[in-house]
Amino acid sequence: MAQAPSRPAALVTGSTSGIGRGIATALAAEGYNITLHGLGDPAEIAALQKELSDRHGVEVRYDAADLTQVEATEAMMDAAIAAFGRLDVLVNNAGIQHVSPVEDFPVARWDAILAINLSSNFHTIRKAVPTMKAQGSGRIINLASAHALVASPFKSAYVAAKHGVAGLTKAVALELATSNITVNAICPGYVWTPLVERQIPDTMKARGMTEEQVKQEVLLKAQPTKQFITIEQVAAYAVFLCSPAAANITGAILSMDGGWTAQ
Ligand code: NAD
Repeated sequence: MAQAPSRPAALVTGSTSGIGRGIATALAAEGYNITLHGLGDPAEIAALQKELSDRHGVEVRYDAADLTQVEATEAMMDAAIAAFGRLDVLVNNAGIQHVSPVEDFPVARWDAILAINLSSNFHTIRKAVPTMKAQGSGRIINLASAHALVASPFKSAYVAAKHGVAGLTKAVALELATSNITVNAICPGYVWTPLVERQIPDTMKARGMTEEQVKQEVLLKAQPTKQFITIEQVAAYAVFLCSPAAANITGAILSMDGGWTAQ
């Protein structure tokens, strides 16, 4: 008797929080075995693992690799591929932010943002591609940002890294175009997550504003819809990019920004 095909497998970096958590949840609901990844409270992460596997009947493992460390990133990829014997979807989502005028920008923050938001994508992709090529299929989704297309002041490292993610996405998409592996970047505007919440105090300081002014005059000012994007909307977009209907979407820098970059 033929063996039942194994479940597809997805790895989502930075899936202990925010958008990544939403994408991992949506992929589990689609029947993917999941490698969760990111930093955070071990008890909360264990609870998320159990919730996803109980609710969707999939296997959910967890890796705590620090993405500033190349060897740890490589080990995370090797372990994820070995655990499920395949890798169908790689979502490069982990990211950090720092808000500061360029002349005061801490060098260590620049280095960390470039390492986590950009270089880690290179390291996970180069480790994923041989397995995806051997399988004859794969989906790579990079969480870029509206800041992959346009800039804001005081975010030099983030904007540089996200523009880099757009370039990496296009280059690798072309390399893999005949391999049935698509590579795309989702570029959200502001999504209400811990990453956005955490930058409010620094933006208040850098611009001399109140919290409400930052929300209305900085964050939502950029978005003509005057609404935050939801985590669920980004997750649904990622699920679509993994579907057969998206097989000819590759190398695309996909905006989901309430009209921000149309201006
Ligand atoms: P978040 O802060 O809620 O989650 C970030 C995740 O990255 C967490 O799981 C965290 O543990 C992980 N992480 C951070 N540093 C790490 C490290 N050194 N090693 C391993 N993991 C690390 O952020 P979010 O808002 O959900 O953002 C997710 C992605 O979406 C980021 O790439 C971000 O730039 C992008 N994005 C966010 C927004 C937004 O408005 N929230 C908009 C556009 C793009």
